Amino acid sequence: MAFDPKIKNDLIKILDEDRVKDDRVTLYTYRSDALILHPTMPMGVVFPENREELVAIVKLLHANQITFLPRGAGTGLSGGAIPKEGSVIIEMFRFRQIYDIDFANRSITVGPGVVNIKITEHVKENGYCFVPDPSSQKACTVGGNVAENSGGPHTLKYGVTVNHILGIEVVLPDGEVVELGGKQWGAPGPDLLGLFVGSEGTFGIVTKITCRLTPLPEKVITLLGIFPSVRDACSAVSNTIREGIIPAAMELIDNVVIQAVEKTIAPGFPLDAEAVLVVELEDMKDGIEEEASRVQAILNENNATEVRRAKNEEERALIWKARKEAFGALGTISPSYYVQDGVIPRSALPDVLGQISDIAQKYNLTIANVFHAGDGNLHPLILYNSKIPEEIEKADKAGIEILDICVSLGGSLSGEHGIGLEKQELMGTLYSSEDLSNMEWVRSFFNPQNLLNPGKIFPTPGKCAETKMGPQIVQSKSGVVA
Ligand SMILES: Cc1cc2nc3c(=O)[nH]c(=O)nc-3n(C[C@H](O)[C@H](O)[C@H](O)COP(=O)(O)OP(=O)(O)OC[C@H]3O[C@@H](n4cnc5c(N)ncnc54)[C@H](O)[C@@H]3O)c2cc1C
Repeated sequence: MAFDPKIKNDLIKILDEDRVKDDRVTLYTYRSDALILHPTMPMGVVFPENREELVAIVKLLHANQITFLPRGAGTGLSGGAIPKEGSVIIEMFRFRQIYDIDFANRSITVGPGVVNIKITEHVKENGYCFVPDPSSQKACTVGGNVAENSGGPHTLKYGVTVNHILGIEVVLPDGEVVELGGKQWGAPGPDLLGLFVGSEGTFGIVTKITCRLTPLPEKVITLLGIFPSVRDACSAVSNTIREGIIPAAMELIDNVVIQAVEKTIAPGFPLDAEAVLVVELEDMKDGIEEEASRVQAILNENNATEVRRAKNEEERALIWKARKEAFGALGTISPSYYVQDGVIPRSALPDVLGQISDIAQKYNLTIANVFHAGDGNLHPLILYNSKIPEEIEKADKAGIEILDICVSLGGSLSGEHGIGLEKQELMGTLYSSEDLSNMEWVRSFFNPQNLLNPGKIFPTPGKCAETKMGPQIVQSKSGVVA
């Protein structure tokens, strides 16, 4: 796969030669995102640096009916940035401008290639932060966050990305530039901005984002409950929320993950604990101690063997480092993992974790759990060896069974990673064909010819969604690539 020579020449007229790439190394690098399933070669990759260049590229591709898609940092876990065969990837990482910081109106306007954590780093000294904090926040871009409507540990109290975006500038698939929202909340009329956030790179390419800034809390208390069973830790989560307390974050880490993070980050979690629960409370100074005492009591009532409290910022940061780098730490105990992202009602957590453990036994695989327990957003990490094809198949089946449980309980296929091409064929388990047609109709309003990021979210025509075709783990000619 490579650019058609005429298209390549036209692209070079818009960009410098070294920003139009279709060499083998580039094509291999960009054939996948963090999903690492379904790798597909793009036609080539282009690296625009500003809106004018982007518009010219999009108009050229549109005129030639060539499919294309934007890519941020490629940390997506549902394959959103994996190209349909022959598509052109538009790398957005160079849109890294900070255009405007407006503390009076609590907003910051940035390019979509800005890395998530950089926003808070820019405004922290002035007492503000950008709330969405995916665990990948040191790498992922705000453009990717908008596309996926990303969440993170602090979603429980503050909501997901859509709750923190005030406005965006977008290049539509025919090259038209539009603005949705602005610097203030509350534009009248249908909420097109809300519709756009979470459209997984299929409605338009975001070129500018105005984010809402949130004041840093006056006080933060981070508790660590240590539990003899995952069931007890899960019960502590639902009982805390039942009491009307909404912590900023409630994150559960099970024993498999504890073993892994102790090897890499060494946060001092007891190796014999079956689960630890991170509970973060934050607010203005008054009242928070009382709430912390109540949460501590609830953890004890649910059989916590110990409840620790971070004594200073260093201890707090270490707990969060262990939580946020947990996926990577699993590399010390397994050659590969496949992470799922199902959602269930919080009250069902204890039972579902038991069922996941049964699925692990059935397939003779280890399934680790580290997840946003307060939101009921599971992240079972199915550990397998990508060099053993039967294990790939088993991991795939186990993932589908877990999602089936989530859907059967009235939950969802994704809490934050998106559907992408990973779960598109499962959408029929959640929605009727009428629902799906209506959603596709909405997409066609923005992207009528489906030239932008085709083959995502919706079941492939002709495949029966209700057959529950799952994510297929594929093998390349050179070996297993999952
Ligand atoms: C270790 C790890 C931990 C993670 N933790 C979390 C977590 O806690 N919460 C969470 O929600 N996610 C998490 N993720 C998933 C991922 O980081 C997020 O989905 C993130 O928002 C993707 O950003 P990105 O820049 O990498 O986007 P990419 O992966 O490059 O792209 C993702 C999608 O966004 C589209 N896109 C990219 N840029 C633009 C643009 N400018 N305009 C329009 N569309 C665009 C792409 O076409 C694609 O469909 C995690 C991933 C990893 C690897």
